[in-house]
Amino acid sequence: MSQIPKELLQDCSTREAFCFALHCAECGTAWRSRPVRFSRAGVDPPNEGKRVIFDALYKREKEAALLRAAAEAGKAFNQCPICHRLVCDHCFLICEELDLCTSCAARLQEQGSPVVPVMGEKVSSV
Ligand SMILES: [Zn+2]
Ligand SMILES: [Zn+2]
Repeated sequence: MSQIPKELLQDCSTREAFCFALHCAECGTAWRSRPVRFSRAGVDPPNEGKRVIFDALYKREKEAALLRAAAEAGKAFNQCPICHRLVCDHCFLICEELDLCTSCAARLQEQGSPVVPVMGEKVSSV
């Protein structure tokens, strides 16, 4: 997918860094965006004026980080054209006519191979 609708991303940001998460609708694997540090992280606003400025800056940087995360998630997720869920590369199959998520492929009896082949036992689920 080119970009994930940003409303779907879960906000895991802290006061220091911006980070967003998305879960695969099929296997539940959590994906997290690369954390982006707030440019004024750890800096205490010296006065009320600066606090307002920092807050506005935080909002602006967060919005930019969210857009970046949405684009990043677009590379890691696929939208199934049948059930419209977002699934990770392990749960998305390249099929003959239409690429499908694993459950739709099973239901529709379509054969396909995963975008990312499963690597035997080496896959660790964290
Ligand atoms: Zn998955
Ligand atoms: Zn599906």
